[in-house]
Amino acid sequence: MATATKTQKGVRFIGRAEFKASGKVLYRVQADGSANIHDVTVIDGKVTSCVANGETCQGFYYRRQCCHSAFVAALEAERTNREAEKQAYREFEFQCGHYSIPGLY
Ligand SMILES: [Zn+2]
Repeated sequence: MATATKTQKGVRFIGRAEFKASGKVLYRVQADGSANIHDVTVIDGKVTSCVANGETCQGFYYRRQCCHSAFVAALEAERTNREAEKQAYREFEFQCGHYSIPGLY
């Protein structure tokens, strides 16, 4: 990748949990070449913490930014876009009275 402006380690997605009551989303990720599992918390679409082995991730602690939080923020943004699209489509469906279009969901 000659065009890449900065080198970023690959991050692997492990899991996602949503706590509806508190509006909190928890992501579990792991960076390539690292044994540490990182738990990234997202509140209102913003990453608020990155924790590994009970301690704040060093990158996040010093810079409020690390490969884990960047990865999660991108996933979360993509997800929000998809939800908005689905919602827009549902509204369209409702207005037009098409309640089921096979193969779309
Ligand atoms: Zn991190």
